[in-house]
Amino acid sequence: MKTIGIIGGMSYESSIHYYERINRQVNQQVGGLNCAKLIIYNVNFEEIHELMLKNDWNKIGEILGIVAKKLEEAGADYIVIATNTIHKVADDIQKRINVPLIHISDCVAEKCKEANVSYLGLLGTKYSMCEDFLKDRLMSNGLKIITPNGAEEIEEINRIIFDELCKGVIKDSSKKYYVDIINKMVQDKGIQGIIFGCTEIEMLVKQSDLDIPIFDTTQSHIDCIVDYALENRK
Ligand code: GLU
Repeated sequence: MKTIGIIGGMSYESSIHYYERINRQVNQQVGGLNCAKLIIYNVNFEEIHELMLKNDWNKIGEILGIVAKKLEEAGADYIVIATNTIHKVADDIQKRINVPLIHISDCVAEKCKEANVSYLGLLGTKYSMCEDFLKDRLMSNGLKIITPNGAEEIEEINRIIFDELCKGVIKDSSKKYYVDIINKMVQDKGIQGIIFGCTEIEMLVKQSDLDIPIFDTTQSHIDCIVDYALENRK
């Protein structure tokens, strides 16, 4: 079994899901008392978020590159970043280590392709929706991606992630806000599926709330991570 190195804490709420489900899925597949060999480096998200607000992504890449190197030195065979937004510095991090980084967008794109769904909406932080680092990676996997384009909508989707979901706060009003936006993208743009491009959205909106399929980055990433750990894929 391979050893997994997880850069976590962004947020701690979704890192809990990574820890719990990776272990559970390994146990389900292998049986006995087997669980994952994993190392989590939980960063203090407040420190990283301050740098995001200052737009100092070079510093974020440097700090998280050092974290990834520490995970590698502690024995991780590969590294994962347990959040979408921080994939903005995925290349910087990869440059600083000698083990592979499993990119979250490749994992979710694989699920979309398996389901034969190629035209999708993407929800996430404002960084993930407005910038190209996730969209380009998804599109290079053959998907067509659209995001909400109203400035107010983007701010509110982002606010709900940072002010509520990252702290474990789940509100019916926020769920309704997300569901209404997704339904509008179905009606106006004809999307066939929705990518939850933020590791906390699955806590808010469930498949039973929607008529189109959800492609969730958290679960897709976890499935890939477990496959690599159990060497079902190289
Ligand atoms: N976890 C979130 C994501 O998947 C948002 C928090 C962050 O900026 O890392 O993008």
